[in-house]
Amino acid sequence: MPSGPEISVVVPVYDEEDNLPILHQELATALSGSGRSWECVYVDDGSRDRSLAVLLRLRAQDPRRIRIVQFARNAGQTAALAAGFDHARGEIVITLDADLQNDPADIPALVAKLDEGYDIVAGWRKQRHDGFVLRKLPSRIANRLIAWTTGVGIHDTGCTLKAFRTDLVRNLPIYAEQHRFLPAMSAGSGARVAELVVNHRPRRFGHSKYGLGRAGRVLLDLLTVKMVSGFSHRPLTYFVLVSAPFGIGLGAFLVTRMWHWLHDGVDEATLSSTVIMVATVTMVMVYFLMLGLLAELVVKASGMHRPGETRVLVRAMPPVGRAV
Ligand code: UDP
Ligand code: MG
Repeated sequence: MPSGPEISVVVPVYDEEDNLPILHQELATALSGSGRSWECVYVDDGSRDRSLAVLLRLRAQDPRRIRIVQFARNAGQTAALAAGFDHARGEIVITLDADLQNDPADIPALVAKLDEGYDIVAGWRKQRHDGFVLRKLPSRIANRLIAWTTGVGIHDTGCTLKAFRTDLVRNLPIYAEQHRFLPAMSAGSGARVAELVVNHRPRRFGHSKYGLGRAGRVLLDLLTVKMVSGFSHRPLTYFVLVSAPFGIGLGAFLVTRMWHWLHDGVDEATLSSTVIMVATVTMVMVYFLMLGLLAELVVKASGMHRPGETRVLVRAMPPVGRAV
């Protein structure tokens, strides 16, 4: 018998006082109907309104099923989700927004999809009820770019409504705006990722916490995720690549100089400038090589080459016959 519930719902909360009572009612209805044991982990991300008081009141009514994590200051949605993963006791974790835009009624379908043998099921807000210029357009461009860069073709990476196997997400280091890259980061280690069309509703209470600035931050995070995962595989390669243009430039320079010397003979002025050039560029390249070796040592010593994307997922397989 597992000690915790089967499903943990993780909800990041930042100034959502009016949404919380309705959300919890909807969650309770959807989860009780699923026939599985469940808990909700609400992470109050330093709300300035009465969200925490509302959560405490809800917990007083259902202390077994409601758990609250409180941040002393606003740390962002990704940090809130990561803290929720740490506190989740279920084997399955569902993430969703607190603003009622995601629909808890979709949860049983996500769980059923996970039961088909997937490790992550990502929601797809096909009919999205958000503004076009500030939300839908940047999101569409970002999704294409993320799918192209990471090779994981998810339509709606920004949809918080997702289902995960808990042990998978708990081991992935996420920060900044990186929660949206969880499927891409996990797929790199062999996780099976599925997608399911989910309901999306307009925001009724409160307001969105993000503006257009998020698009820039997400793109930078995409670069970080891509670089860090590539870098931790083989840091030396990165430094060799950076120094390669210097080597190519030096080679081209030497060829033209040789051509010049063959035709006009060697003179002292060009010879000394060539020696200085060769010495300088060689020093720069050796410098990069040393930095690369140092980076290899740092990565190996810190164990960065193991967790996250570089780690290969190991599944317990049911026995399929007698061992020979
Ligand atoms: N959120 C959070 N910390 C933040 C910003 C947002 O926990 O710093 C929560 C917020 O309360 C909501 C979810 O993250 O539950 C998504 O935020 P929002 O609805 O503002 O984003 P949008 O739907 O506009 O993308
Ligand atoms: Mg929202």
